[in-house]
Amino acid sequence: MEFNDKEPKNSILYWSKRLYQKGMSPATSGNISIKTQDGILISASGTCLNDMDENDIVLIDYNGNVKEGSKKPSSEKIMHSEIYTRRDDINAIIHCHCPVITAFAVASVPIKKPILPDFALLYDEIPLVPYFCPSSIELALKVGEIFEKNDVALLKNHGIVLGDTSLQNAFYKLELIRTYAEAYFGAEVLGGAKALSKKAVNEIKKLYRK
Ligand code: 13P
Ligand code: ZN
Repeated sequence: MEFNDKEPKNSILYWSKRLYQKGMSPATSGNISIKTQDGILISASGTCLNDMDENDIVLIDYNGNVKEGSKKPSSEKIMHSEIYTRRDDINAIIHCHCPVITAFAVASVPIKKPILPDFALLYDEIPLVPYFCPSSIELALKVGEIFEKNDVALLKNHGIVLGDTSLQNAFYKLELIRTYAEAYFGAEVLGGAKALSKKAVNEIKKLYRK
């Protein structure tokens, strides 16, 4: 399937498949959405992101009511709408249970060590949201609060949620975080993940933020 960002449903299907095929959203976990003029287009609840078709995308309003579509919208719909409500600049959201990233959320190991220049350039630390029942209003409200100042949050014993200007950008950031997680794991097995120096981190920030 070709990727066309101007066609939101097409974009949801394209990036959903990539998420699943990269092993980042196993089984029927995870959900994905795009903000449109008419409301929020979101994956249906209980679908495998690899096997979705247009009928598995539901249009909802910001209270989670279905405007268009025959399926039940994702059970995390309020989490998505809380983020969009608080952040005008976020147009697309990915929530998934990427195993290697989720391991950090399960072990409560912070994702913050500046081990890779591209990670250090984007993030000081990925905030960790305490555990709340998946799909609960408490989780949605806490995530919304964290998104006032962040574009991403780890969900304790659950997964990760990211928002960005497009699904493409959200997906690439997710891959960057997964690279961090895999490199960290590998380095720990090989004797310990060594951080870049403060000088090296400042240097990369100066170079790219010009
Ligand atoms: P849905 O299938 O309802 O979107 O839920 C998946 C999930 O990841 C819940 O946290
Ligand atoms: Zn989830």
